[in-house]
Amino acid sequence: MRKFTFGGGIHPLSDMHEGKAETRGREVIAFAPDQVVIPMDMHLGAPSVPTVAKGDTVLLGQVIATPTGARGIPVHASVSGTVSDVGMRQLVGRAPSMCVVIDNDHRDEWVKLTPLGTVETAPADQIIPAIQQAGICGLGGACFPTHAKMTIPEGKVVDTLIINGAECETFLTADFRLMLETPDRVVQGTRLAMRGMNVPRAIIAIEDNKPEAIDTMREAIKGQSGIELAVMKTKYPQGGEKYLISSLLKREVPSGGLPLDAHVVVLNVGTAAVISDAILDGKPLTTRIVTVTGAVKTPSNLRVRIGTSIQDAVAFCGGYTEPPARIFFGGSMSGIAVPDDTMPITKANNGVVALTEKQAVLYEESPCIRCGRCVRACPARLNPFQLKAVLDVNDDLVEAERLHIAECCVCGACSYVCPARRTLSSTIKAARDVIAARRMAR
Ligand code: SF4
Ligand code: SF4
Repeated sequence: MRKFTFGGGIHPLSDMHEGKAETRGREVIAFAPDQVVIPMDMHLGAPSVPTVAKGDTVLLGQVIATPTGARGIPVHASVSGTVSDVGMRQLVGRAPSMCVVIDNDHRDEWVKLTPLGTVETAPADQIIPAIQQAGICGLGGACFPTHAKMTIPEGKVVDTLIINGAECETFLTADFRLMLETPDRVVQGTRLAMRGMNVPRAIIAIEDNKPEAIDTMREAIKGQSGIELAVMKTKYPQGGEKYLISSLLKREVPSGGLPLDAHVVVLNVGTAAVISDAILDGKPLTTRIVTVTGAVKTPSNLRVRIGTSIQDAVAFCGGYTEPPARIFFGGSMSGIAVPDDTMPITKANNGVVALTEKQAVLYEESPCIRCGRCVRACPARLNPFQLKAVLDVNDDLVEAERLHIAECCVCGACSYVCPARRTLSSTIKAARDVIAARRMAR
């Protein structure tokens, strides 16, 4: 069997304990907390503006915030109940976010739902607007509004849709379980996305450490013309858009460009599944699957309501095995450390990983020994030790730009392989973010 791959990267199976064994056999369980805290800025782009006030009664799926700007999407109530607060809250590593807090009445009374049609009958020109109205953004972690990604600008041509089922991050099995348990939803969403964009070909890409998902999806696409399945070698960060495109199609996304520039749109398998929910059932995005693992009593895959707190999700999994030293949203390679477990799970969060004191040990960095491992591991073909040197010594952002720092995808592979424990990816990320913020302000 042909297996696709890319240059650089690391091998989680041989290089490290990938942390997936604890949850890969765990079926997805639905969980609804007593209260949800729903941020208005879960997607990339301008935040949405609340349309509800404290004391309002809301139905499940009701619009509670309307979009602003071209990439905006509405936000929907993920439970039915009463709005108990609308206000600013400090969330993960950003300025405070406007949030709507809803006390759950546990009745799950849905707002009136209006399906667009079947996979064959849904009007093609209404599919992308319906995706926007459903509040869908990329569930793989980036949270780019899906309707904006699928809108092909004048003069651009897209010939291939890639459905990303690589799930290369450590610890996470949410996409794996989704493909095993609801493969038809993934295929239906793929077909709808193909029709909405008028793209003739789709490739569902899965790493070879998920043979059950490969078999299940292969069966599900039988008779679906234009949809193929590609098996990828297990390698981190295979799920990065650029590396998928390079592996599967041998095309390069130009520096500073988008997959569109390589005639490709990439959607996560989870995004494909919620597209089918939106079009076939009229349901907006109110839940997502999240892997809850690490120092928890019963590591699990949960379908949580958007806005569920980490502590409620962990309590549903039996609580912590011991007080966690650190908690991440996402896996251990590119995840984001959270300040505490009151943080709400948003549309972007595919994993909650709690680490014990022993697991979360921080190493002292020592001088670079010029071994070159970070260079060989970097999928973006950067020179991480050189970038770190110019940033550490002179904080030289101009030189860092010249060294193509903007190409860093913050995968963390360089830090992972460094024998000197150099804080490469965090230093590079911090500088890259400063440069990006300055550009935005210009
Ligand atoms: S420099 Fe960036 S892209 Fe390259 S390995 Fe490090 S974190 Fe990944
Ligand atoms: S891996 Fe670490 S020690 Fe080796 S060259 Fe890179 S920064 Fe230096």
